[in-house]
Amino acid sequence: MPKLGTRITRRELERAGDPWPAELEEAALRTWALLEELRARIGRPLFVTSFYRTPEHNARIGGSSNSAHMRALAADISVSATADARAKDSRELAADLARSWRDLDYDEVIWYDDSRGGHVHIGLARPGKRPRLEVLHAPASGGYALWDPLAGEGLQAGAAGRLRSNPGILVALAGAGLVALALLASRARR
Ligand SMILES: [Zn+2]
Repeated sequence: MPKLGTRITRRELERAGDPWPAELEEAALRTWALLEELRARIGRPLFVTSFYRTPEHNARIGGSSNSAHMRALAADISVSATADARAKDSRELAADLARSWRDLDYDEVIWYDDSRGGHVHIGLARPGKRPRLEVLHAPASGGYALWDPLAGEGLQAGAAGRLRSNPGILVALAGAGLVALALLASRARR
């Protein structure tokens, strides 16, 4: 178990997924640096449960065919030592990322319901691409929904315009408040 004050090691990252190829070293270092920064902000050990995945590994576990894990630009993390605390801790981490830590320039953050792993996925944009700073929740019922911690468990209003770049989305506009209900059709893990 990592102690606070212990850096995240290459071995730990490789064992969370697969060793990455030399051509992805730069990407892996970017993601690794992001994790170190997160760990410093959280002030607690951070458990990395998935990092780089080979395309074969990604397919085997039902990963999205476009998963940033295959580019060494994503990590799945947990900040809880116990399963009991996991749901609350992951929600808090996603909320901190959404509200206070947008300077980290992440592309995508996903808070997974406990029934789907309970972890937080954080992904970075490809080199030269602008980070989307998108925060999603992956609820027990499946799919993905844009998530705004300030709107409680509700879905983020005005989200429809941000969804154009995501294929496979079902958008339903409900009521006069134009609340955008956005669910990705796919359950594939990212
Ligand atoms: Zn992930």
